[in-house]
Amino acid sequence: MEKTVLSIDVGTTNVKASIWNSTGNILASLYTGIGKIQQNVAMVEQDPVELWDKILKTVSDVIEIKKNFRENLIGIGITNQRESVIAWDSETMKPISAIISWQDRRTSKETYAIRKNYGSEVEDISGLVVDPYFSATKIKWILDNIEESRFLHGKGRLRIGTLDSWIVNKLTMGKSYFTDHTNASRTMIMNLRKGSWDENLLSIFSIPEDILPEIRPSSSNFGQVTQKGPLYGKDILSVAGDQQSSIIGMGRVSAGETKITIGTGTFMISSSGKDFRRRKGILSTCLYSDEGGHGNYALEGSSFFSGSLLDYLKQNMFENLKIESVDPYHGSSTPEGCVYFVPALSGLGSPFWDPGATGTIIGIGPSTNWKDISASALRSIAFRINDMICAMQEGDIAGDIWVDGGVSKNLGLMQFISDITGLNLMQAPNPDHVTGRGAANLAFRTLDHHDLAEWTMEKHGRKFTPVLSRENAKDLYSGWLRSLERSWKWHHD
Ligand code: ADP
Repeated sequence: MEKTVLSIDVGTTNVKASIWNSTGNILASLYTGIGKIQQNVAMVEQDPVELWDKILKTVSDVIEIKKNFRENLIGIGITNQRESVIAWDSETMKPISAIISWQDRRTSKETYAIRKNYGSEVEDISGLVVDPYFSATKIKWILDNIEESRFLHGKGRLRIGTLDSWIVNKLTMGKSYFTDHTNASRTMIMNLRKGSWDENLLSIFSIPEDILPEIRPSSSNFGQVTQKGPLYGKDILSVAGDQQSSIIGMGRVSAGETKITIGTGTFMISSSGKDFRRRKGILSTCLYSDEGGHGNYALEGSSFFSGSLLDYLKQNMFENLKIESVDPYHGSSTPEGCVYFVPALSGLGSPFWDPGATGTIIGIGPSTNWKDISASALRSIAFRINDMICAMQEGDIAGDIWVDGGVSKNLGLMQFISDITGLNLMQAPNPDHVTGRGAANLAFRTLDHHDLAEWTMEKHGRKFTPVLSRENAKDLYSGWLRSLERSWKWHHD
């Protein structure tokens, strides 16, 4: 009997469900789009009821495709958008908050104060730069602003966690209240060296520990599904954040191996192996954990608006824009004639960490049109990646960088990133499913100790090598650095 694992990948724009066999081949997959609610300029939410329905529907539908594989299904791997939080009642399992998205900036002001007073302490313990992106200030916001949270806390029924902890809790009908090290390492209240909630950080953010899930290894048994439906009785064999899952799915976990996922946002992860590294403006994070421990580290660069910048242009400005046809080289021959678009629509992430930066388009002339603006938006992804690479040190990145995510389907952009960074890129084959593959990988590990290193891609994707001269690339990048400065600290001092 062929053993299979079902991966549930709860992203920001899609829920994906995929079935994998033990050699790492995908047998079936489906996805469903998820809505986003932009309450105002700073508040980004998602509806937990809609999300849960879509998770169940996508899972049922994919299992329907491979009906005869239901018996072979030995377990489930979960991977999810990180940092987003939700609060619920442990007794009724009903959410008492919306999903507060990782893109949400409502806590920018509070974050400034904490960064000023405790910035280096938080950074040293958690590996993260104090920013509203991470979960801690979102959790605190719920405690301060949702009255029911205080009522439930008084009764010992309040749960606030990242999405994985809510999904696991729902699937097990309230029994398992767990998260894993990769998700916990993005909350800003986990001690990255110890792999546990940190007393000092909890006190800095005024978060009581009794509302939080227990942290478990990513590759371990999170409990059995007791919710009625096609997954009933199956074990949850892994949980990991989507960015970590994607590099695991590529089988690129040795020190120096690097991947970039370009989807809603851009996330670059370089494995540091067992070595805990700190770099200015770059995050340190947990790569994965298993029974061997939590000390597998990575360096990470995060940029928030990437594919979502093109989606924004289509929704709000250029209705007829064909996102897949945007050409990054359009109008980019010199920095003088080039339009630059700083995608700071929700602040700037690595390595600048300026929550007050604003979206900026600069270099507009009398003949600038929608094509120039769209091309500048796509180019910004490459420039943001170069910002992160420049903040890394020699040896942090070894070999070709692998790239996945929806936007990596744009081959022009892949070439442009290679040109600007001067590095070789490898397009991951099947880029839409690498994340699901990582979750399946961790699940098989829980089951029979599969060695991660054996999980290499069957066929390599296309390779991109720099063509533009280094001089031209540096010129274009210097124009970018000038435009960046114009966007800084727009909203606060
Ligand atoms: P996530 O996992 O963050 O939810 P995906 O990896 O599924 O996102 O990528 C979705 C993004 O990819 C969307 O913003 C979409 O506009 C963008 N996208 C999809 N195809 C292309 C393409 N060919 N060129 C550029 N962007 C694309």
